[in-house]
Amino acid sequence: MSSEQSIKDRLDGVLESIAGAAARAGRSADEITLVGVSKKKPASAVREAIEAGLLEVGENRVQEAEAKFGEIRAGLDSTGPPVRWHMVGHLQRNKAKTAVELFDMIQSIDSVRLARAVDKAATARGKVIDVLVEVNTSGERSKFGVSPGEAIKFVRNLADLKGLRVRGLMTVGPLTPDPERARPAFRSLRELAEAIRAEGYPWAEIRYLSMGMTADMGQAIEEGSNMVRVGTGIFGRRAQG
Ligand SMILES: *Cc1c(COP(=O)(O)O)cnc(C)c1O
Repeated sequence: MSSEQSIKDRLDGVLESIAGAAARAGRSADEITLVGVSKKKPASAVREAIEAGLLEVGENRVQEAEAKFGEIRAGLDSTGPPVRWHMVGHLQRNKAKTAVELFDMIQSIDSVRLARAVDKAATARGKVIDVLVEVNTSGERSKFGVSPGEAIKFVRNLADLKGLRVRGLMTVGPLTPDPERARPAFRSLRELAEAIRAEGYPWAEIRYLSMGMTADMGQAIEEGSNMVRVGTGIFGRRAQG
């Protein structure tokens, strides 16, 4: 079935779903950034998606990104629009330096120690890197992220880190066969973003709410997401393991 579809067809389908969800929420599809998550997919597939119009690419492992990005870039038409690279998976502190070199945005800041390591690496390179704070809105123990109750204090603790710029919040919705059940988690992230904005921290410009994946992007957009991270919907199913 979907394996017969080209990446371009799938990408167009995802963009249509985004537009539909935005319309249902009375919002414009232009407000919503699509990050295509290409983990476990070859460089050729990522390039195909970029050539079909994908502008933001996400990976969940530094090592995989490191192995693929050069190859992806080498085959790309350099006159095309610039691609932005996102780290969406859990980041270990000892990979902070490489992550800062590879990515434009790190979506998975989940501890002050990690934030400090990223800050140090960015400062050493004379770079200010965009980051999102990952929040564990479902409370599932398998998930990374700061707890919602600690998020405001967490952002406050990032005040002195000049090498990073807080641009928003990220969450992974709960594991559930029914995406409707993910709504409370998405709603709580949106409310948290409002609460942090209300604090008026000059170092935190809470612009992005990164929530929604292939199965639950419609619900996430209806609940206020303006950044969805879609893997399977664009690239097809991944090998297990
Ligand atoms: C894999 C992944 C996605 C995309 O998942 P799909 O269900 O394939 O759309 C999104 N966010 C993160 C953090 C991921 O690891």
